[in-house]
Amino acid sequence: MTEHKEENKKENWEVIRMSQDDRPKVQSWNSYWELPPASVSLPIKGCAGKTGEWRTFKPVIDQEKCIKCYFCYMYCPEGTVLVDDETGVVSYDYEYCKGCGICAEMCPKKCIEMVREV
Ligand code: SF4
Ligand code: SF4
Repeated sequence: MTEHKEENKKENWEVIRMSQDDRPKVQSWNSYWELPPASVSLPIKGCAGKTGEWRTFKPVIDQEKCIKCYFCYMYCPEGTVLVDDETGVVSYDYEYCKGCGICAEMCPKKCIEMVREV
């Protein structure tokens, strides 16, 4: 992925440690790198098999418009947004992506289209 912004990480960690009353009422982040630290879960192959088989719509990204903010990666509840370590390019693990559309909803550039499976 791209270079980590340590100064933002520290600043945001301090924000999330504040009491609820002291935190900024509106928190806005420009990229994945500015989000406060949080635990995330990653998918594993379950007894239900490849969960991507249930999907009705699949996310398709317009790479030309993608600004590599990685909100889609951060918000995907299944951990099925993939980021190439070398290039930072976003793709999907269609074997497990359930097609919920959260990545498309959270994308600030609206460059993820949910396309009906055929
Ligand atoms: S559609 Fe849902 S499960 Fe699939 S990559 Fe987007 S957020 Fe993840
Ligand atoms: S697809 Fe959208 S949310 Fe994901 S990295 Fe690109 S611009 Fe950000």
